[in-house]
Amino acid sequence: MHEASIVASMMRILEDEAHRHHVERITRVNLSVGLFTAVEPRTLEACFELYAEGTKAEGAELVVTTVPARGRCLDCGHEFPMTSPRCRCPECGGLRLEGTGGRDFCITGIDAR
Ligand SMILES: [Zn+2]
Repeated sequence: MHEASIVASMMRILEDEAHRHHVERITRVNLSVGLFTAVEPRTLEACFELYAEGTKAEGAELVVTTVPARGRCLDCGHEFPMTSPRCRCPECGGLRLEGTGGRDFCITGIDAR
């Protein structure tokens, strides 16, 4: 998933929300992105700035939080939160890991006035 497509879908949600709540201006957006979306927060912010121009979200602050994915070790079956796409099983040190989740993004909060 690329930053631009995330921002494009995010803008649609923001416009909808702004319309529904009769918001004049969006001042801050909290966004959680899954670990495996592999987005670069700085690229995301730059994209957002571009897309937000001329909308109610123009000049809003974008706060990006990366959320861990769920990892499972294929050797010992241990499950743990993965905080990096490249890590080892904390139980046995195995490298054969399966990651689930972490491919989504979601808006966790909108500040508006
Ligand atoms: Zn293991």
